[in-house]
Amino acid sequence: MRGMTEDTYDVIIVGAGPAGLTAAIYARRRLLKTLVLTMDIGGQVVLTENIENYLGYTEKSGPGLAIIFEKQARKYGTEIIIGEVKRIEKESGLFTVHSSAGDFMSRSVIVTGGRMPRRLNVPGEEELIGKGVSTSLTCNLDLTIGKNVAIVGGGNTALQRAEVLSKTAAKVYLIHRRDQFRSDEVTVEKVRSCPNVEFLLNTVVEEMKGRKRLEKIAAKNLCTGECKELDVEMTFIDIGRDIKLDYVKGLVKTNELGRIVVDKACRTSCEGMFAAGDITDFPYAQAIIAAGQGATAILSAYAYLTKGKDQKVCY
Ligand SMILES: Cc1cc2nc3c(=O)[nH]c(=O)nc-3n(C[C@H](O)[C@H](O)[C@H](O)COP(=O)(O)OP(=O)(O)OC[C@H]3O[C@@H](n4cnc5c(N)ncnc54)[C@H](O)[C@@H]3O)c2cc1C
Repeated sequence: MRGMTEDTYDVIIVGAGPAGLTAAIYARRRLLKTLVLTMDIGGQVVLTENIENYLGYTEKSGPGLAIIFEKQARKYGTEIIIGEVKRIEKESGLFTVHSSAGDFMSRSVIVTGGRMPRRLNVPGEEELIGKGVSTSLTCNLDLTIGKNVAIVGGGNTALQRAEVLSKTAAKVYLIHRRDQFRSDEVTVEKVRSCPNVEFLLNTVVEEMKGRKRLEKIAAKNLCTGECKELDVEMTFIDIGRDIKLDYVKGLVKTNELGRIVVDKACRTSCEGMFAAGDITDFPYAQAIIAAGQGATAILSAYAYLTKGKDQKVCY
């Protein structure tokens, strides 16, 4: 049977979006031995062009806000390791978190895995992610200047991105598999008035091609069956976000939408495991809500770790 060692963490936080990093700041201020295991720093905030409703932050840039989150978390000595959590196991009251960066043990876990941008799952996509294929506009805007680019998607974000890109790129293909957009009319009309945006409706991407970087995409019209190759140097995939929970399968209760069920103290059905942010069954998905839940989750974890001795006053 495994036991605690000096390497055992008090808390491991999965994810470094607003929920995870808020939890980390609170954890470190309570001197908990804390590890943040995450695939990136900032989470969806990095994908956000403008964030104008986060209290106290007036700069607007999503990536700018993520930098502030990280700086504040590191100020209190948060240990952050980049890696993908693959599986979490619980035995004799201790958790083992298996990740691509190694296996780590902890007395409690906070899951803040949020949502991940959906992929098209077409040939060439995986190899070309980060080499011309992207789910983040903000980080790559400079690379679009004077280039032919494509956006795949039909929601508000895809259309807003098309409008932004029309100002930097030479040509923008907006590829959507239906004949109608899931966006408000005002935005659609704005994009229609951009002369360098070409709408490819009822169209799907079948393949992404390129030796070192993206060079072409193969697109098929679903009505006519016609296939054509588009010369593009960047493609932005904007087809929504998914919650991935494989790594806690069987440990926690989820709802019909596949989100982790939490009580108002962010406790899950598994003792010692807490969850916060977009990954939970809370009905709203916003950065400030995720941050608030991150704080709630760590205070609950602290109460759990101290067996409630210190839970009356939580500053
Ligand atoms: C385009 C866009 C615009 C938005 N605009 C706004 C806005 O204006 N205002 C607003 O308040 N909100 C906005 N949001 C929503 C907001 O960004 C999210 O609600 C918020 O980021 C959720 O925070 P989170 O910490 O729960 O999850 P996320 O931000 O999704 O972070 C999840 C973290 O978990 C990590 N992770 C996931 N799975 C694993 C794993 N298996 N192993 C290790 N790490 C993992 C990820 O790498 C990431 O660091 C927007 C979102 C998008 C995409």
